[in-house]
Amino acid sequence: EKTGRIGGDESRIHVFVRIRPMAKKEKEAGSRCCVKIVNKKDVYLTEFANENDYLRLKRLKGRHFSFDASFSESTTQHEVYSSTTAELVEAVLQGQNGSVFCYGATGAGKTYTMLGTLESPGVMVLAIKYLFKNIRQRSFDGNHAVHLSYFEVYNETVRDLLSPGRPLVLREDKQGIVAAGITQYMAYSADEVAVEYQVKDASVNIINRVGKLSLIVLAGSERALATDQRTLRSLEGANINRSLLALSSCINALVEGKKHIPYRNSKLTQLLKDSLGGACNTVMIANISASNISFGETQNTLHWAYQEK
Ligand code: ADP
Repeated sequence: EKTGRIGGDESRIHVFVRIRPMAKKEKEAGSRCCVKIVNKKDVYLTEFANENDYLRLKRLKGRHFSFDASFSESTTQHEVYSSTTAELVEAVLQGQNGSVFCYGATGAGKTYTMLGTLESPGVMVLAIKYLFKNIRQRSFDGNHAVHLSYFEVYNETVRDLLSPGRPLVLREDKQGIVAAGITQYMAYSADEVAVEYQVKDASVNIINRVGKLSLIVLAGSERALATDQRTLRSLEGANINRSLLALSSCINALVEGKKHIPYRNSKLTQLLKDSLGGACNTVMIANISASNISFGETQNTLHWAYQEK
């Protein structure tokens, strides 16, 4: 059994699943729920309405998956944050690096989970609120700085979203691989961040400790699948696939304890080199829809996330 532990007991990759509620449109189309959570960890995919023999499903290929925790439709944003990311954010305050990924098909709830809405803020907003609250409470004597960068990796091109312009070039400096010239926004309060709330990557610099928190919404996974099936041959499909494949290869190599981790295979993995493996904490949240209309995509997402474990 792959335990998913990398670089010692204290660091590992945690993989979670979140099911989003059925949309009105899905209900109106007469769709039914095809995912069932058992024991808060196991997810079963059912193909037929009366399929509930879980012992039998467990023996079938591609119908049973197990995670660190699985969240049903009724799980709140706060519950998702505290079960998946709170510990990791605390470790960032202690000077470790960590990354949180949302993965899944388009419409499966990645953006909702990461950004949320004004009424129900997501993981990113809650993490930043916690950071600022704790920096204040622990009175670091003003000896701290929070730098925020927000960027997109698309078609193997890195763009600064706080200062749109020419694509950024990656280069290696003493901090590791960085996007040269990227805007580092100095943030003073969580409110300010909430206003600027399209922020994806936060570096927290505390006294002599530097912790880096990377929050990543991955590209819709169905496009990677489409390239696999050779129905989409475009550059876009190939490059999105390249990011996701490269990320998979790195995580698998880390889980297997390999010496060589193929970070160089994509821009995304180069940028995440210092935030994956070693003493880093990694959280993967797989987002899925409960509707049987999305059975194939859901199975694909669960399969991918299960492998990452
Ligand atoms: P993605 O980013 O994966 O393409 P979204 O996050 O945009 O998907 O979600 C698609 C729709 O479903 C949005 O309207 C979003 O508000 C809604 N949604 C997703 N997850 C939830 C949830 N857990 N609770 C309520 N609504 C959700």
